[in-house]
Amino acid sequence: MATIEMKNIVKKYGDGFPAVNDVSIDVADGEFMILVGPSGCGKSTLLRMIVGLEDITSGDMLIDGERVNDLAPRDRNLSMVFQNYALYPHLTVYENIAFPLRLAKRSNKEIDEKVREASRTLDLDEHLERKPGQLSGGQRQRVAMGRAIVRDAKAFLFDEPLSNLDAKLRGQMRTEISRLQKRLGITTVYVTHDQTEAMTLGDRVAVMKRGELQQLASPRELYEQP
Ligand code: ADP
Ligand code: ADP
Repeated sequence: MATIEMKNIVKKYGDGFPAVNDVSIDVADGEFMILVGPSGCGKSTLLRMIVGLEDITSGDMLIDGERVNDLAPRDRNLSMVFQNYALYPHLTVYENIAFPLRLAKRSNKEIDEKVREASRTLDLDEHLERKPGQLSGGQRQRVAMGRAIVRDAKAFLFDEPLSNLDAKLRGQMRTEISRLQKRLGITTVYVTHDQTEAMTLGDRVAVMKRGELQQLASPRELYEQP
């Protein structure tokens, strides 16, 4: 459970035009926030600054009220799901999901409980002994989410997680992500360039353009605008 506050965040790469320019967004505890906008508008950069994979040029990033600008990613306790799922091809589904727990040196008993719980939630119980190469795109995506949820992270961050899937699977996964997020009640920030995803998934939508925040509203408010 967490709040994420972005206060006047600026990111400059070199001396060019800022990739992110004075963006302020508050994400409430348990909220599903979408960052949407065309390619190059700065949404991935903003997400990476939340996780700590990118330095902040100026402004403040607060998680649960604590300034995290200088905190290493591992100390932020967030969980990021990438576009390319970054699964280990030689490990089984079980071991892929267990991976962060093995790194954290948890006991086998705890690992087993967590992996089985996550795989039930994600409907992967029957595939635990398979390798990623034997799974469909949607199943691989769910394994990546399984790895994210066993971490007990404070928040989920998604970077275009569905962009490599076909339209049908994308629709299914949208429903699943939405259900999972509501069930876990976990604060979520989700980056997409897809309007449909933005309008169906989020509690609120932050619309970005050329590094700036253009609008911040619920899907309904955005929809009802002239
Ligand atoms: P989006 O995720 O909306 O497609 P990005 O956050 O990836 O946008 O990029 C925003 C801007 O920052 C773009 O102009 C991009 O070229 C630039 N940019 C992103 N990453 C880097 C980098 N590592 N070095 C220099 N410029 C970058
Ligand atoms: P190692 O340091 O052994 O290479 P990792 O790079 O996988 O291990 O992870 C180092 C730390 O970075 C982890 O403890 C974790 O907190 C953080 N981390 C790794 N992957 C993610 C992720 N997908 N989302 C958020 N944090 C991560």
